[in-house]
Amino acid sequence: MRLSNYICGNWVLGKGDEIPVLDSVTGQVVAISDTSGLDLGLATDYARTVGYKNLSALTFYDRGQLLKKIALYLLERKQKYYELSYRTGATKVDSWVDIEGGFGTFFTYSGLAKRMLPNTTFWVETGVEKLSAEGSHLGLHILTPSEGVSVQINAYNFPVWGMMEKLSTSLLAGVPSIVKPATPGCYLTHAVFQDIIGSGLLPEGALQLVCGDPGNLLEYVQDGDSVLFTGSASTGRKLKSMPQIAGSTVRFNMEADSLNCSILGPDAKVGTPEFDLFIREVRNEITTKAGQKCTAIRRILVPEDQVEAVQKALSSALDQVPIGNPLNKQTRMGAIAGKEQLDTLKEKIQLLAGGSELIYEGKHQLIDADFTNGSFITPRLFFNPRPLESDISHETEAFGPVATIMPYTDAEQAVSIARKGKGSLVASVVSNNTAFASEVAWRLATTHGRIYILNRDNAQEGTGHGSPLPTMMHGGPGRAGGGEELGGLKGLHFFLQKTAVQGSPDMLRAVSKIHIPGAQYRFTQVHPFQLHFEEIQVGDSLQTANRTITEADIVNFSNVSWDHFYAHTDSTSLTGTIFDRVVAHGYFLLSAAAGLFVSGKKGPVIANYGLEDASFFKPVYAGDTIGVFLTAKEKINRGVKGRNIPSGVVKWLVEVYNQRNELVCVATILTLVAKKSPFIAL
Ligand code: NDP
Repeated sequence: MRLSNYICGNWVLGKGDEIPVLDSVTGQVVAISDTSGLDLGLATDYARTVGYKNLSALTFYDRGQLLKKIALYLLERKQKYYELSYRTGATKVDSWVDIEGGFGTFFTYSGLAKRMLPNTTFWVETGVEKLSAEGSHLGLHILTPSEGVSVQINAYNFPVWGMMEKLSTSLLAGVPSIVKPATPGCYLTHAVFQDIIGSGLLPEGALQLVCGDPGNLLEYVQDGDSVLFTGSASTGRKLKSMPQIAGSTVRFNMEADSLNCSILGPDAKVGTPEFDLFIREVRNEITTKAGQKCTAIRRILVPEDQVEAVQKALSSALDQVPIGNPLNKQTRMGAIAGKEQLDTLKEKIQLLAGGSELIYEGKHQLIDADFTNGSFITPRLFFNPRPLESDISHETEAFGPVATIMPYTDAEQAVSIARKGKGSLVASVVSNNTAFASEVAWRLATTHGRIYILNRDNAQEGTGHGSPLPTMMHGGPGRAGGGEELGGLKGLHFFLQKTAVQGSPDMLRAVSKIHIPGAQYRFTQVHPFQLHFEEIQVGDSLQTANRTITEADIVNFSNVSWDHFYAHTDSTSLTGTIFDRVVAHGYFLLSAAAGLFVSGKKGPVIANYGLEDASFFKPVYAGDTIGVFLTAKEKINRGVKGRNIPSGVVKWLVEVYNQRNELVCVATILTLVAKKSPFIAL
């Protein structure tokens, strides 16, 4: 099969520089990659113009919905991806992580968008800055999709997840992307990509694919574009220093070699649950994806009196891992991505052998496969007795089922050894000793992107040393590249331009479509709760009648709520407090405010949806009189919700004043408001 590329909205075959891509198990040709003759300059322009225009015109919410629809579409077709994945040498579990883990990233980001992102093409950061004494000049920050293309260069180890984790944030941010998978296994990326395009869900220009050799693609990046790279540190550094990147404002994110470690706590002796967990975790990290994971454990740090026990237990655990053809159900460890990668791995093993002692080499019989045609290798364990002096185990990333055991004497030394990795994606600490785990975690934080603490309490549900999660940061300092990916909504910021906007409250409300305190109230003829979602305008306000708070109110609220806190009930206890007399409950103020602003008549408001940012500024005593301003602060168009009644969320600013015109309480309440029509936009 000749793999086509997807450029400027068309499937394009290369001009003849064919690269055969081989099956890692049988050595047979699976596909032909050919990227020669592509007009990559045109491709980058097309992304910046057509792609950017179409994607950035969608709202964050709509883009989140697209991610979900695409993931559902792919999920229905997953079987064919698994069949191709086995040919990359990945087992069923490896393939699940790659394929369904990739789809899961889309689902997670779609959920985050639904819950936390606006249904607008821009995103207003919370927090208005007061830039003047009287409040007539304020500032806020808005985030818009960076105008440019995101070039995404992926490594060979996760042909699906690698693509989808980068796309989950770039697509949601509204930035068009050019995907460039590594050549080994690119037929799997191609199959998934083809279906993404085939789904017809994405707007024109959102995605393009250079399926193999990147050619001169990076020569066309320019200011405003971004490059995301996963692979070897040497390639990463080379690309980062290209004049088109180093000499411009192209943002570059790199995730590269990482010599991750796992530390066995001094408490975790043979027979403890933690010892067994440690052996299981290290075995899994060595054998999953045949050790070809950026997060795999390369350095095994154990108390010096536990070295022998760990070596014995780990060797025995590795002996029991069936290795072979992933098509055989018994197989638990598959092949290396290709012969070239296997040769590189063997060179690295030679390097390790030069500076440390080989203490384990698996003697496995392969299942339904052979060493001649397939790219197989058995696990290896090295021992470095002087890890503070000998650097080879801290510098050589053998990208396969290979790790080195190293002894430490105390927490101080464990930290020093771990830090010799000069920056890693992840370190794990397996210990039930909170003092040890917390000391090590704090001291490893500056050199690690993620710290995974495992003990008997989280063992059942632990997500694993090697699993980057969409809601948590993935990346690491120093040798690991200094990049940051995923990390929940923070991951979007890489693709967004942040702009400070300064002006009067009314101007900022007009720009942000969010009511800004200080902007003029716009009093409506009818009660705002009698307006449908599409009829409400941000800034619509209601000024209520007043209510004088009585002692009976405070006593009654104490009794109804059972809140008998001394400040509300015992006037003899107030000496030395901030109150002169018994004070009204804050919750009573909010309830009394609702009593003033709610319209009791049945109308479009369906339900109270929540309460945010409630603050109480001044005490309210019996005899004080309160009044409320209710103002439509923000509208969130959420499509059909709640028993299929088309509705949206309206956030209302509630400002409670006393008889001296002092602000005593502020809160934001959320209501679900019915729409007149399900098709109405904001
Ligand atoms: P490379 O760094 O060579 O390749 C990574 C990606 O970069 C591939 O897609 C590759 O494409 C692409 N690439 C290479 N040169 C260029 C270029 N000039 N312009 C644009 N893209 C380019 O890594 P490998 O995949 O060969 O792996 C080598 C070693 O890297 C491994 O043995 C391992 O040690 C480490 N590695 C680390 C990873 C991590 O996440 N920590 C992940 C993968 C590898 P192509 O395949 O078409 O050459």
